[in-house]
Amino acid sequence: MSTQRTTREWQQADSAHFLHPFTDHAPLAAKGARIIERADNIYIWDSEGHKILDAMSGLWCVNVGYGQTALVEAAAAQMKQLPFYNAFFQTATPPAIELAERLAQVTPPQFQHVFFTCSGSEGNDTVVRMVRHYWASLGQPERQVIIGRNNGYHGSTMAGASLGGMSAMHAQGGLPIPGITHIEQPYWWAHGRPKGLSKDEFGLVAAGWLEAKILEVGPDKVAAFIGEPVQGAGGVIVPPKTYWPEIQRICDKYGILLVSDEVICGFGRTGQWFGCETMGSRPDLMTFAKGVTSGYVPLGGVMVSDKVAKVLIEQGGEFEHGFTYSGHPVAAAVALANIGLIQEQGLVERVREDVGPYLAEQFESLRDHPLIGDVDTCGLMGAMLLVKDKTTGEAFPSELSVGMVCRGHCFGNGLIMRAVGDRMIIAPPLVMTRAQVDELMALIRRCLDLTL
Ligand code: PLP
Repeated sequence: MSTQRTTREWQQADSAHFLHPFTDHAPLAAKGARIIERADNIYIWDSEGHKILDAMSGLWCVNVGYGQTALVEAAAAQMKQLPFYNAFFQTATPPAIELAERLAQVTPPQFQHVFFTCSGSEGNDTVVRMVRHYWASLGQPERQVIIGRNNGYHGSTMAGASLGGMSAMHAQGGLPIPGITHIEQPYWWAHGRPKGLSKDEFGLVAAGWLEAKILEVGPDKVAAFIGEPVQGAGGVIVPPKTYWPEIQRICDKYGILLVSDEVICGFGRTGQWFGCETMGSRPDLMTFAKGVTSGYVPLGGVMVSDKVAKVLIEQGGEFEHGFTYSGHPVAAAVALANIGLIQEQGLVERVREDVGPYLAEQFESLRDHPLIGDVDTCGLMGAMLLVKDKTTGEAFPSELSVGMVCRGHCFGNGLIMRAVGDRMIIAPPLVMTRAQVDELMALIRRCLDLTL
């Protein structure tokens, strides 16, 4: 346990020693970090005693909510029994084996194998090496190129950030690494609406950009396409329903591996166990992290389809890749408890049949607000597009940037949402009730009204 200090003391120690991820430190030092001390269910409490509804599940990860003792007890029991052993050198631990088996049960039927990592970024790094190794093992080493999407997010390591399409990340550190290219994202508001396309028409047009890119690169040089079923960090961009089936058709046509990044969409977020099931694709590889342990401890991985696993196992020889903590027994024990809880509490079905549709209905009702240009939801993910002028769709003015709205009005009123450009987004814990959706909507309206 950490020591007791005042908020100011924590803030001073923080700015003296702690470099935060994705943070501009000068303004942070001036303002001081918000110190989060405890949590329960869908709420967190800061060091000043404020109760805050966490509509982002931490960082899209606390799917089963905070304070689940089953996960805590699983970690403690495993730590006592065997706190660590690795999976290198022909050894394995019971929790890691059992988790591999359980993941094969809850993922789509083509997946019977898993490669464990510690995070989503490492999962996507693994994908880059694995797909290239797969094609080399099949005697096609020239198939190197992986296609991602602008504004996609696949993590922060060199390969993960390269697969992603965040230009600010590419600008630092000379990314992308060789052999990675991008197509435009399927964002109807930005790319379809101005051309007068319906959402369904636009879905086909946006998927067609993949085919155009494959032809530009040369089909025999393309190894894989990667995408999030719903782009999360990019602003909860829910693609038209025509998009993913057409992407699948194009990948099949050219024999290109399809990789679904399920780091956010996995483990019930979209109302199915995995986002690809909601969106209608059949990926060859699937990366996951976050919701697999509900963020209680770090764990990630790559689900490997039978088609890919057969080549790797029978023709691939040694895959020169892995992490000390691949299949960490404590993380695996927590994941098993977490998956058990999702199943026992029927959380996936609740998102699909009850609280997800209710959230969608409530989000639709926001369209009457003068600041709201559009809304999107998928399961328990949602986005509001803020506009200056509803009829023209003119962008929200920068002096009232959404970041200000979030940090000022939301935090100050007991709500955590996230701002991505002119979109405000949520991804609350899957244990959220209808009454808590009502509470969330009241907070959202209050924050919007304060911004008028
Ligand atoms: N992929 C997606 C879709 C993500 O949203 C994230 C993180 O937010 C990652 C990958 C990277 O995961 P991690 O931060 O665990 O490395």
